[in-house]
Amino acid sequence: MILGFGGRDAAMRKMLPLGEAQELVLSRVALMGAEKLPLGQAFGRVSATPVFARDALPPFDCSAMDGYALRSDDSAGRAEVTLRVQGELPAGQAPKEALKPGCCMMVMTGAPVPEGADVVVPREKVRREGSQVVIPGDLRAGTNVIKAGSDIQRGRQILDRGDVIGVGEVALLAAQGEADVEVYQVPTVAVLTTGDELLDVAEPLAPGKIRNSNGHMIAAAIEEAGGRPLPFPPLPDDLEKTKEALVRAAEVADLVLSTGGVSVGDYDLVRRALFEIADEVLFWRVRIKPGMPVVAAVRGKTLYLGLSGKPGGALVNFYLLVAPVIAKLSGRKNHLVPTVKAALESDFPKPSPERTRYLWARAYYNGSWRVVLSGGELAAMRGYNALVEIPWGSGPLAAGEIVNTLLLKGVVQT
Ligand code: AMP
Ligand code: MG
Repeated sequence: MILGFGGRDAAMRKMLPLGEAQELVLSRVALMGAEKLPLGQAFGRVSATPVFARDALPPFDCSAMDGYALRSDDSAGRAEVTLRVQGELPAGQAPKEALKPGCCMMVMTGAPVPEGADVVVPREKVRREGSQVVIPGDLRAGTNVIKAGSDIQRGRQILDRGDVIGVGEVALLAAQGEADVEVYQVPTVAVLTTGDELLDVAEPLAPGKIRNSNGHMIAAAIEEAGGRPLPFPPLPDDLEKTKEALVRAAEVADLVLSTGGVSVGDYDLVRRALFEIADEVLFWRVRIKPGMPVVAAVRGKTLYLGLSGKPGGALVNFYLLVAPVIAKLSGRKNHLVPTVKAALESDFPKPSPERTRYLWARAYYNGSWRVVLSGGELAAMRGYNALVEIPWGSGPLAAGEIVNTLLLKGVVQT
């Protein structure tokens, strides 16, 4: 066990740059196991295996139009041609006979084109006269005929391991008869909240108490990130109980989160508890604001992240450190939140001397990315879809300056 920060490890004494902290936590988690799910339950999950087309799509040459299938030879070199209607082919029917010379067959969109026919002329371009139709001449072979396999050839890869199964992928899998799909299991993420001051959401306020908003906030964030939250009852500020709950959480969860108790106050027992139960402490301070106190530790195979207690700090910790871990556990290819460069809509008068600052914001695209800052407190979280990043060492920023902007919503992670 690496204990404390008493000089045994230089990394433990300094504030770790965020990138290094992210690398450390990501290096300590393995992928979840796979499970088979009916296709109807696989939307939003991550494929645990490559998938190859078992059939050509379309499986047969078919018509792109409602109209008449004919031999292009029959229309060659003529201004107009009159053909006998040999029969009708609705969608879903296989042709029983080949098309005879001098004839045409009425076909519906998606219906197989009969043997011998190589062109379909749309219904609105022909004149029907009883059992005959008058069709424009000089039709080019292949027009309005969708060739077998022109969309997907048999054997072609349609999905890769690590692909998120979105709407398009659901369609592909369905078209290929993949009734069951192999996906990564959803990681279960334990949520421990700590502090003698915490009240349940349903309780009335009492002197010195506040409601436990972090428990609900982090559970929602876990769902948003693709994990399954497992909330634990709030913990009092008690070292033994905290240690016990942390150890127990790892038995039922793939990742253990806590909030509070990780700064330097007398009652900051979570940090102590984590240090005592851990096989290895990865870091306990990251060069960010808010959310600087955040502990990462490993016990056995389980990663623990002790997030800041302040709601803003805890949620910044979540997007920067926890969401990437959940993405990796879930088998996704990309782990970090996607970032764009956006122009600030207003000044930001404060300098950011020592820590990289993260501010709740609303980003939008209007020919270029622009971003409106909403502040750092709980109220600022309403309507946010982004975090603006101001690197440490920056002075005040003026409206129009370009800032890194982490897009937290409305962008599907792949
Ligand atoms: P701590 O690091 O435990 O001292 O917490 C820092 C601040 O966050 C304190 O003001 C706490 O009251 C607050 N806090 C801690 N846990 C929660 C929680 N679960 N919900 C809301 N606020 C919290
Ligand atoms: Mg506390």
